[in-house]
Amino acid sequence: MSDKPVVIIGAGPAGLTAAYESVRQGTRTIVFESADKVGGIARTESYKDYCFDVGGHRFFTKIEKVDELWREVLGEDFLKVPRMSRIYYNGRFYNYPLRLFNALFNLGILESILIVLSYLRSQIWPQPEEETFEQWVSNRFGQRLYETFFKTYTEKVWGIPCDQIRADWAAQRIRGLSLTSAVYNALFGVKKAATLIDEFDYPSKGPGMMWRRFQEAVEEGEGRVLLNSEVIRLKHENGRIISVTYAEDGKTAEMPVEHLISSTAITTLIRMLEPKAPEEVLEAARNLTYRAFIIAVLIIDKKDLFPDQWIYIHSPNARVGRIQNFKNWSAAMVPDPDKTSVGMEYFCNEGDELWTMSEDELTDIASGELAELGLAEKEDVIDKVVLRQPKAYPVYDHDYSKHLGIIREYLETFENLQTIGRNGMHRYNNQDHSMLTGLMAAQNLSGEDHNLWTVNEEEEYLEEDKTKAKLRELIPEKDLIRAFSRMDKLGFATAIGLVSGLLFFLATIWLVIRGTIPGIPDLAFLADYFPGYTLTVDGAFIAFGYTFFWGFLFGWLFAYIRNLFIAIYLYHAKKRAELVSLRDFIDHF
Ligand SMILES: Cc1cc2nc3c(=O)[nH]c(=O)nc-3n(C[C@H](O)[C@H](O)[C@H](O)COP(=O)(O)OP(=O)(O)OC[C@H]3O[C@@H](n4cnc5c(N)ncnc54)[C@H](O)[C@@H]3O)c2cc1C
Repeated sequence: MSDKPVVIIGAGPAGLTAAYESVRQGTRTIVFESADKVGGIARTESYKDYCFDVGGHRFFTKIEKVDELWREVLGEDFLKVPRMSRIYYNGRFYNYPLRLFNALFNLGILESILIVLSYLRSQIWPQPEEETFEQWVSNRFGQRLYETFFKTYTEKVWGIPCDQIRADWAAQRIRGLSLTSAVYNALFGVKKAATLIDEFDYPSKGPGMMWRRFQEAVEEGEGRVLLNSEVIRLKHENGRIISVTYAEDGKTAEMPVEHLISSTAITTLIRMLEPKAPEEVLEAARNLTYRAFIIAVLIIDKKDLFPDQWIYIHSPNARVGRIQNFKNWSAAMVPDPDKTSVGMEYFCNEGDELWTMSEDELTDIASGELAELGLAEKEDVIDKVVLRQPKAYPVYDHDYSKHLGIIREYLETFENLQTIGRNGMHRYNNQDHSMLTGLMAAQNLSGEDHNLWTVNEEEEYLEEDKTKAKLRELIPEKDLIRAFSRMDKLGFATAIGLVSGLLFFLATIWLVIRGTIPGIPDLAFLADYFPGYTLTVDGAFIAFGYTFFWGFLFGWLFAYIRNLFIAIYLYHAKKRAELVSLRDFIDHF
């Protein structure tokens, strides 16, 4: 065993999970954290005992191991929160997840019809290319719904037009969701999916409580978490990281490293290397960008403002993107039950106009917008505080994967370095996936062989495969399809048209040859329905034309309606078995 420690950069969810696992294996582990508290972007801040997150952090995962870890470390202090969140658009509140009648009522009949028509258009004539977020979403939901519910909010979050955001991002976040399943869910509800979406876990004192417990667990073992200690340099030699230099209380110190696990932004990591990374790699790092985030917390002298935990603000005329109501996450987030604290969330770029505004300017905008939205009066705001979070969202712009590829390839040449987490891998990971990369990195130290880059890609595919397998198990689809095979509309219609046409043709010819027979009605009455019809050879052809036409039409409609009913039946049968039909998409923005 080496006497050098495993060093971890960052005490966010990824770094702390790596440390927890490394300590569990009995390894000496040091975590460097530049901030004064643990939790990273998932920390909980407080101001005069009002607690708030950097944007409301739900604990929700499908990864069993992560769920187990949460419960193991936090124990009894996990609340089950029934979710309530709506979308505000054009002066109205839309339930989210979608509820059909609420959506119809808010949009109005005309707009609803236009949305359905635009959806049908996208299904019949989809855009051939799916390179951008705009193309990806409108091919699935129709252009109009995309413009109503996706465009403004997405552009607020990313600060770039949707036709410049890569489709990868949408595909990663919105996989498994379609308008039909959203509407189905709105109409009938899918019990299992609804429970997955309608509640989540939350530590009673906010997410920071979870990360403080992880810190305690690490420090009870062979681990240390050094706060206010920023790693500023990484020395390397022969493809190994040999030491970290860190700054603490204005002094710097160097520590040798056995293995380095880093959750600092991958671009920062590249810049810290000494000797320097090749110019091509540095250039790639300069080209990866991030979106920053500001939360203006307003303390309101009111007991209740609105019932939601958060509201998405899709209206283009307000700059705020989302509004949190922290006491609705957990009552313990506010010290006085007669007051409310709301977090007005703004998405921006470091150094831009919003980012550089003073605290007063920001809270002025925030209280003005809160009042304009009709949620509180400006005079009710009794206190305020602003928090700025740099590098909140790794940006998936047009060339990000090319740049990331160059960086990854270079970092893979180091035998004792692993990058983990959200910014550490420039991947849009939530806490659970960030944690999983940390866990796997630590397990790799004890001889396991996980590829961290498959996390959050592979998970989604596995989920899809599991759902499909479940469907196959519950519905013998092959049998159903055999029993209710689709009727060929054109074939059936032609057959009915031909049979009826020939019947009337032959009957007319027969009457022309034989003459009318007393007691048997002749076909002269057909002239009332088929203009031009006579009991002649010409009339036989006219009868053929008319009856072929009507027979064809009847046959086509019959086949169409039959296919439709069978499709609806099959769809219902499938949906009953489908566990995850509606993925929670806007949340992930
Ligand atoms: C607005 C918003 C809302 C979110 N909501 C949710 C949600 O509801 N549910 C959910 O699961 N996830 C949510 N997330 C995502 C979640 O915050 C991240 O997945 C998670 O925090 C990533 O963990 P991490 O450890 O990879 O990185 P981080 O949380 O970024 O932690 C990295 C840590 O490293 C430290 N560090 C960086 N550089 C250095 C250095 N050189 N030296 C020392 N320390 C350093 C940082 O100070 C930080 O503490 C949200 C994110 C945002 C921005």
